Amino acid sequence: MKTIGMLGGMSWESTQSYYRAINEGVKAKLGGLHSAKIALYSVDFADIETLQHQGEWDRTADILADAALSVQKAGADFLLICTNTMHKVAPQIQHKLDIPILHIADATARVLLADGISRVGLLGTKFTMEQDFYKARLQAQGIDVLVPDDNERAVIHDVIYTELCLGVISAASKARYLDIVSRLADSGAQAIILGCTEIALLIQQQDTQVALYDTTAIHAGQAIALALDEAPLPTRLEGS
Ligand code: GLU
Repeated sequence: MKTIGMLGGMSWESTQSYYRAINEGVKAKLGGLHSAKIALYSVDFADIETLQHQGEWDRTADILADAALSVQKAGADFLLICTNTMHKVAPQIQHKLDIPILHIADATARVLLADGISRVGLLGTKFTMEQDFYKARLQAQGIDVLVPDDNERAVIHDVIYTELCLGVISAASKARYLDIVSRLADSGAQAIILGCTEIALLIQQQDTQVALYDTTAIHAGQAIALALDEAPLPTRLEGS
């Protein structure tokens, strides 16, 4: 079995979801007492969040690249960056590493295309919904991306940082998210990407008729396939 490298703590609420999903997946495939081989570096999210909101992305890249080098040194065969947002600096992290990164947007695009979906709604932080580092990777694979309007984006972003990353699950926020999901579906989205690793803590498939694609579950699932040699390792990331 290969060793899965994880950059976590962004937030630790969602790193728990990854850790559980990966171990449950390995147990389901191998049975008995089998569990995943994981090298995890969990950062202090307060440092990262402050720098994100100051626009100091190069400094976040330095912190994460150092953490990733520790993960590599611990024996990881490939790396998961356990947050959609911090893929903004994935190329800078990759640049410092020998092992490949499994990009969360590539993993998600693979599943969408296999399911014949070519127009999606994207929920995530404002960074993920508004900037190009994530959407452009989906668009490059022929997937149209719809994002919520200004007010909706503000609600989604604030709930992520002031509730979900703190472990707060609110019925009012859940209702608001589900309204936005319905509106995006009415605007032509065939499915919705839960493009923030905490969103599945708030809304799940049983809450809506609209198909939801949870990036945490997808990323974890593809990591299991790589670890068990069911799929080839990704090639190193190039460009942005
Ligand atoms: N986990 C979130 C994501 O997937 C947001 C936290 C962060 O800013 O990294 O984007």
